[in-house]
Amino acid sequence: MENRKQAVPTYGEKLLSTLDASYFDNCGVICAQEAWDLVKDEFPATPVVVMVPETMEQSLLEAQIRRAPGGVKTWFGIGGGSACDAAKMAVWLLGGRLILMPSIVSVDAAFTAAVGVRVDHHVRYVGMVYPDYLLIDFDLLRRSPKRLNIAGIGDILSIFTALPDWLLGRDVTGEKYSDQMAAESAALLARLMAGAVEIRDCTNLGLKLISDLYYAEVALCDAHGNSRPEEGSEHYFAYCLESLTHRPYIHGELISMAVVLTGIYQGQDVEPVVRFLDQAGVCWRPDQVEVTRAQIVATLLALPEYLKGETHLPYGIYHHVPTTQERVDDLLVKFYSYV
Ligand SMILES: [Zn+2]
Repeated sequence: MENRKQAVPTYGEKLLSTLDASYFDNCGVICAQEAWDLVKDEFPATPVVVMVPETMEQSLLEAQIRRAPGGVKTWFGIGGGSACDAAKMAVWLLGGRLILMPSIVSVDAAFTAAVGVRVDHHVRYVGMVYPDYLLIDFDLLRRSPKRLNIAGIGDILSIFTALPDWLLGRDVTGEKYSDQMAAESAALLARLMAGAVEIRDCTNLGLKLISDLYYAEVALCDAHGNSRPEEGSEHYFAYCLESLTHRPYIHGELISMAVVLTGIYQGQDVEPVVRFLDQAGVCWRPDQVEVTRAQIVATLLALPEYLKGETHLPYGIYHHVPTTQERVDDLLVKFYSYV
């Protein structure tokens, strides 16, 4: 097990005040502006720099970070996925200690060691960085928009479509597979789906459930060596869409939509997934995600070529059954019957 260094979340409220004072000497903050506005009054020091990442494009982000004043001893990442990834990037580039305090449990960025950036709009992971503390502050989380916290289920729900992909990978390409890990991953999905009401209401239990599941999921992926146990074709669809539209989405909502779509394409019964999404109040429908029917069609049809270029993406249903106009038409009839 290589996950010994994975940050164990600290749960509670007013967690900044529990940190050793030395973390606030020469500290820098990388944040989402809204998140910083929520915590700056209780932040126990004046940071050397407060930086909002202008972009996640690697070269531009690196340049922005390198313009920060030198000598920062601790970097705080306070905000959503971008703020956490940018703070990890700062520590990776410049050194120092890292404290992560997500303002929303919306993506797994706070829980993973890999630094996620974009290169020409494509997701890339560079470097590994571990925080001294991962603060899951219920008070802060609850002051952020519910919709964003609820969307946090997306990167766990993706297990639903990731696991059948993994089986395909084993059977078709001889990829390394573990029955035990697949079973553990499936158990995380079951825990998620049992928590719909707590998640919908963003109770401490619901927020802790999402965090616990991220923590367990990242530990599982670290043990396996990649994100196979939780990421598959639903993500490929999302990446391909992003590469076509070049606009940001609420990741977990886009992934949730893609899980329904891809689950149908895999021949799975998506009824329980749709029921869970609606119970949990996830905005997963195309008009909520702000994706048009034409964009879904264009993305599906672009996937075979896209996957030929993205050779690092493990085998999945869109590799196995390349989309054609006829298959897409059939898929959309089924998909829109749930919308
Ligand atoms: Zn994701």
